Amino acid sequence: MPTPSHQVIIFLGPPGAGKGTQAERLATEQGLLKISTGDILRDHVDRGTPLGVQAGPLMKLGKLVPDQILIGVIRDRLASMDSIRVIFDGFPRTLPQARELDVLLEELGSPINAVPLLEVPDEQLIARIVERGKTSGRNDDTQAVARERQQVYREQTQPLIDYYSARGQVRHVNGVGSMDEVYGRILEALK
Ligand code: ADP
Repeated sequence: MPTPSHQVIIFLGPPGAGKGTQAERLATEQGLLKISTGDILRDHVDRGTPLGVQAGPLMKLGKLVPDQILIGVIRDRLASMDSIRVIFDGFPRTLPQARELDVLLEELGSPINAVPLLEVPDEQLIARIVERGKTSGRNDDTQAVARERQQVYREQTQPLIDYYSARGQVRHVNGVGSMDEVYGRILEALK
């Protein structure tokens, strides 16, 4: 059997836009590995690793974890893969992370294929996060921390939209609607 070809998709969008859910489904249906840095960090926090001890208090405040930590995490994940077939959820989140990812993918000979951007109005985002907080057990799913995460997104992550748009990689997707509707739009946008 030929090795499946490399594929790299980056999900962009504000906190609460539904990136994790949609990325999970796309990964399952297309045989890709979803790499969620939020999940990876939460796992470290739960296990009480040194990385988790450093990241936990920042996450609880809605602040970003330092770039170098995230870059190391991603480097390790990709190093063990034979063929790079991944969906990034929550990474990159800053310009330095995006530049480092480019370097890494260049080394691996596996360029970015597409960057779906899930768009949802601000008011809906906070409501979704607070609703999710009732069951997620996440200490950052509160109204106050959600606002902080939104602010951090505007300042540090939104510039990535221009970064990838300049290369024609961004695919705008309306993130309002049922999970199936949004998923259908993502498939359409990736064609
Ligand atoms: P959401 O997309 O709902 O904000 P995530 O699970 O992606 O949630 O992220 C939760 C928290 O984990 C972030 O607020 C941040 O503290 C940390 N985090 C996740 N990914 C990154 C990243 N790429 N760079 C820095 N911090 C990150």
